[in-house]
Amino acid sequence: MRGLMQDWPLLVHKILDHAATYFGDRQIVTRAVEPDGGIRRTTYADIHRRARKLASAFQSFGVRLGDRVATLAWNTERHLEAWYGIAGVGAVYHTLNPRLFPEQIVYIANHAEDRIIMTDLTFVPLLEKIQDHLKSVEAIIILTDRAHMPQTSLRNVICYEEFVAAGSDSFEWASFDENTACGLCYTSGTTGNPKGVLYSHRSNVLHSLAANQSDALGVSNGDVILPVVPMFHANAWSLAFSAPMAGAALVMPGARLDGPSIYELLENERVTMTAAVPTVWLALLNHLEGNNLKLSTLKRVAIGGSACPPSMIEKFEKNYGVDVSHAWGMTELSPVGTVGTLKAEQKALPFDERLRIKSKQGRPMFTVEMKILDDAGKELPRDGKAFGHLVVRGPAIASGYFKGDGGQVLDGEGFFDTGDVSTIDAQGFMQITDRAKDVIKSGGEWISSIDIENLAVGHPAVANAAVIGVHHPKWDERPLLIVQKKPGHEVSREEMLAFLDGKIAKWWMPDDVAFIDNIPLTATGKIQKVELRNIFKDYRLPTAGAAAAAGGAS
Ligand code: AMP
Repeated sequence: MRGLMQDWPLLVHKILDHAATYFGDRQIVTRAVEPDGGIRRTTYADIHRRARKLASAFQSFGVRLGDRVATLAWNTERHLEAWYGIAGVGAVYHTLNPRLFPEQIVYIANHAEDRIIMTDLTFVPLLEKIQDHLKSVEAIIILTDRAHMPQTSLRNVICYEEFVAAGSDSFEWASFDENTACGLCYTSGTTGNPKGVLYSHRSNVLHSLAANQSDALGVSNGDVILPVVPMFHANAWSLAFSAPMAGAALVMPGARLDGPSIYELLENERVTMTAAVPTVWLALLNHLEGNNLKLSTLKRVAIGGSACPPSMIEKFEKNYGVDVSHAWGMTELSPVGTVGTLKAEQKALPFDERLRIKSKQGRPMFTVEMKILDDAGKELPRDGKAFGHLVVRGPAIASGYFKGDGGQVLDGEGFFDTGDVSTIDAQGFMQITDRAKDVIKSGGEWISSIDIENLAVGHPAVANAAVIGVHHPKWDERPLLIVQKKPGHEVSREEMLAFLDGKIAKWWMPDDVAFIDNIPLTATGKIQKVELRNIFKDYRLPTAGAAAAAGGAS
């Protein structure tokens, strides 16, 4: 027998309808991308009106169900309008990451067959360089008004404000099946070509509902949220949907993501919650410490994208009274998978014990099923010790990549292999130890590079740290710690090793420490291990000679 409930398709534009009806006057504040733009203020009611006009303008342009419309843009209210305007005609918002190499952007735009690119002024020079290689693009909409339109060699350029103005005020959103494609975001693809993750309206709505649970991102209508995480990376951690769904105000940081600029917005706009990768928070904490500043309204910060070191959680919580939610996710998961909110019985534990739990990547939110497998595909125990391949299943998790790239990605039970290696403890808290391809295999056992990196960045002279496996004649691989010092700080190899000594198992201790001016990062702020392995490909560990001389046995 079937239930007798209404068939109400889960479409993302219904989120904006809700925000405009019940929280119409909530502010959306933007730091303008135009150099003289200052701060712009609008509301959900206005964004709702303008997104519908935009959708109607797209319809007149000939944009149809399933067409891809790309955005190459910072977090601004116009970018938000663009997502809803595109999705509201049944087209697909496709976020292009401007931090990728131009050749990758060309590859991605051609692969997606983008018909239109909506760009911020910042990226006009980039598009001028690559426009001759863009095969499917018919028009470029510049996200500004007439007064700020640039002199450009770009062809078929449209001014965004004029495009919106030409749209109809009486446009009604399109209605269609909730499984219709809604958004497209390519993985950064450190090896091989980037692959497209294609979100549906249903997956975006379900993911935002899940992310809004109070034990997950816990967004509510009293929040003022500053998404530093860009809309061009991993679906902006769903905040473009979660915030309006809950009626939370938004503060969009535009192009300025440095410590002082973020601090200014946090304080001036009375932000209560914010989200970004650890490198952003490192810059903010440096700014706060260097200038003896306090955070007067911020209550929560979500940190993810790469491992958040315990020293960062400790600083936020102890020095600034800000609660840290360490989260893990990936583009393929829409993107949030786990959040490190404590369970009720853990809240009364001593600080150090809570810190140990919060440093893990957290518990799955409802809609995410997860388990860890050994190399043979057998499930490993949830004991916080065994580590294996992390696989996930759920309604907002990719079932394949756009155009079938990468082939079949689900196992026989429908689980997706994340490519991460992790533990899961008895309480359900998952802890990432490595990307599977970065795991260090020493004498047949695995060493977690993330654990060692997390400790190393706790040293006051260390700006960033990475651990890679280097060939060893006896053990196959041994860890090499690579350190980027903070400007004006000194630390020696011996001091670094002494700092780690006693904090990790003896056989996890790095065999050597190398210093480097800049640890290379990817377009999404992760350590580029492939590049580091390349730089250190001829590196010989001091312990390698001894082992070789002893015949590799001792
Ligand atoms: P992306 O799709 O670019 O967001 O990258 C997803 C990958 O980032 C994951 O598979 C993890 O390897 C890594 N990642 C995300 N969040 C965390 C975290 N909190 N700790 C460690 N690694 C993370």
